[in-house]
Amino acid sequence: MFKDRLLEVLKKYVQIESGGSFTSNTSPSTQTQVEFAKVLVEDLKAIGAQDIKLDKDGYVYATLPATTDKKVPTIGFMAHMDTYPEGTIGRKVVPQLHKNYQGGDIVVSKERDVIITPFKAPLLKHCIGHDILTASGDTLLGADDKAGIAMIMVFAEHLIKHPEIKHGAIKIAFTPDEEIGNGPAKFDVKGYGADFAYTLDGECNEGVVAENFSAATVNISVKGVQSHIGYAKNIMVNPVRVLSDIIAAWPENKLPETTQDREGFIVFIDTKANFEKGEATAMVRNFDDNLLRQDIALLEAIVAEKRLKYPTTTIDFKVKFTYKNMKPMIDKNPLPMDLAIEALRQEGVNEIGVPMRGGTDGARLSFMGLPTPNLDAGYSLPHGPFEWCSIDQMQKIVNAMIRMIENNAK
Ligand SMILES: [Zn+2]
Repeated sequence: MFKDRLLEVLKKYVQIESGGSFTSNTSPSTQTQVEFAKVLVEDLKAIGAQDIKLDKDGYVYATLPATTDKKVPTIGFMAHMDTYPEGTIGRKVVPQLHKNYQGGDIVVSKERDVIITPFKAPLLKHCIGHDILTASGDTLLGADDKAGIAMIMVFAEHLIKHPEIKHGAIKIAFTPDEEIGNGPAKFDVKGYGADFAYTLDGECNEGVVAENFSAATVNISVKGVQSHIGYAKNIMVNPVRVLSDIIAAWPENKLPETTQDREGFIVFIDTKANFEKGEATAMVRNFDDNLLRQDIALLEAIVAEKRLKYPTTTIDFKVKFTYKNMKPMIDKNPLPMDLAIEALRQEGVNEIGVPMRGGTDGARLSFMGLPTPNLDAGYSLPHGPFEWCSIDQMQKIVNAMIRMIENNAK
């Protein structure tokens, strides 16, 4: 029953540019996000939300007051305003609706050869009969995470129109800069005032997720020992070779391309080297903090071995832990997951609790004292022209959200 409205709101939002920036030091990282935030503030006012606030860092907060006198936990729903930063990929989005998907390919742009095949998009198999929104071939769609924002907006509008639906206070937040990893940085957990929350930022049919990767970044730097290349015997230490040596020594069964499900990996994402010096950066990912540390120790042992092999140079090894699996924080209170799982099952969304091989804003928020599992937002293949979003899936999740707040008030 929300389909038309969801489509209308999502189409409006994806056409408003709000890409973040990896290189800016402002907060939020781009002015377009502030402009988008202002639109959201106006829309919240128009539907009658309360306590609407846009703060100096670009966070939008609002409240839907309780419609019951019972004392029940305060639930938050949140989504991020920024789209993927790279180049012009998020600019001038032209949304395109593919009605009543019947399986097979979705042609986004024949001209540009952007065709979403079931092989490329396995989650489409859950979407037979759905209306699918895509962009038009040269941009991303931005349903990551404007689908989440549209769902929260339509959900809020429905609750305000129907005060007979009994619920406790509901907190809304729209946050900037998720894509550059800064989403929770300036989030006001205390001011928000929710007992727990949900980000609406999960892939289509993912249901609800409370497990994400723990993550670390490793930096390895090598100093060269230089010499005339014609007379370098027993003198030269070439950082280009030393780094290649280290990278090649990492076990092949611990790479992104050789792991799945609960297996962790280390991936080298960048190397720069010349005769003078070299530097390599690697990302470490695992669901288990102990296994994460073991993999880091293994890489450090490889580096130690290379220090013996190249004794006249120095090789530095630095580790930075970036985010952690939220599961231990979520497990402390079963209510957020129980509410979500029950409501999603009633809506026929059954693939629940599959750990997500990535990060989520909710992970940091959970460690900041706000347990925040991630809910399905109906989209898939974000950050590029193959991004698609099921309007029917969005509707299912909005229905589930209404069940959740009703069950919470019982
Ligand atoms: Zn997202």
